[in-house]
Amino acid sequence: MIKLSIVTPIYNEVENLPGLFREIKSSLSALGWDYEIIAVNDGSVDGSLNVLKELAAVDSHIKIISFSRNFGQTAALSAGFTHATGEVIIPLDADLQNDPRDIPLLLSKLAEGYDIVSGWRKNRHDKLISRKIPSRLANSLIGKITGVKLHDYGCTMKAYRKESLDSVRLYGEMHRFIPALAAWHGAKITEVVTNHRPRQFGQTKYGIRRTFKVVLDLLTVKFLTNYSTRPMHFFGKAGLYALSAAVISGLLALYLRLFHHVSLIITPLPLLTVFLMLVGLQFILMGLIAEMLTRVYYETQNKPTYFIKEKINF
Ligand code: UDP
Ligand code: MG
Repeated sequence: MIKLSIVTPIYNEVENLPGLFREIKSSLSALGWDYEIIAVNDGSVDGSLNVLKELAAVDSHIKIISFSRNFGQTAALSAGFTHATGEVIIPLDADLQNDPRDIPLLLSKLAEGYDIVSGWRKNRHDKLISRKIPSRLANSLIGKITGVKLHDYGCTMKAYRKESLDSVRLYGEMHRFIPALAAWHGAKITEVVTNHRPRQFGQTKYGIRRTFKVVLDLLTVKFLTNYSTRPMHFFGKAGLYALSAAVISGLLALYLRLFHHVSLIITPLPLLTVFLMLVGLQFILMGLIAEMLTRVYYETQNKPTYFIKEKINF
């Protein structure tokens, strides 16, 4: 029998927990799969852990991981993924905003041959100005830059084949970028519209500030997915551009001096030349250092720089 792992990150959601587990179980009982529910308590201070323990005492499907303090939603999800034993993993928010009744929908889409099915909160019930509009902009930006176009990167509820998560390591607040990172490893991704409900109990842990962090994270993801095995192409290109600009500006300064008798000290060109030369050399040296780091990174861990899907007759 195929096994499903539900992973739910919990930070101060005490009023939501009984309903959450009731809804998950009723959705799963109709399915007939073997399953586990991994509840990751991310340092809650409202008694969530006690409620979890009571629920787990009478139900061995419920497993608890409890952090020593609040490490953030990404860390909670990451811990859940590492401990999951199912072939399919579905994370969902513990605040009942995601609807466990969508689980069969995600699974049936996954069965069509995808590695990741992303939930899309098309009718999202959050604040318009501080959450929905920034999120729309962020999603289109992420889509453009990573080339993996999804309407709702931020939706926690997604279905993953276990293998598609194996190679993805999560740092900082990167959980929203899993589809982009997994796509780089060759995962096939699609999305389905899922239900979204207003939060009834407790409060959201995020505001508009998160959007700015997303833009910075996007830069990291873009660099990692495009250049992590060839950083010199990134830094070296910038360096060569700067050096070329230095040559142009230097020649221009000389030309003005020799043919128009413009003194070298009355235009900013000589200064610009020196500045661009330094910048260009710095970029190239940075590229060399990054190339060495890349080798250290891959070789110390015996990490291949490619991903094999299958091998035949070995
Ligand atoms: N969460 C967490 N650790 C945190 C912040 C949030 O585990 O530091 C959990 C939270 O309990 C919820 C989910 O992540 O289950 C999503 O959080 P929230 O509902 O605040 O986000 P929103 O729906 O407003 O984006
Ligand atoms: Mg929420």
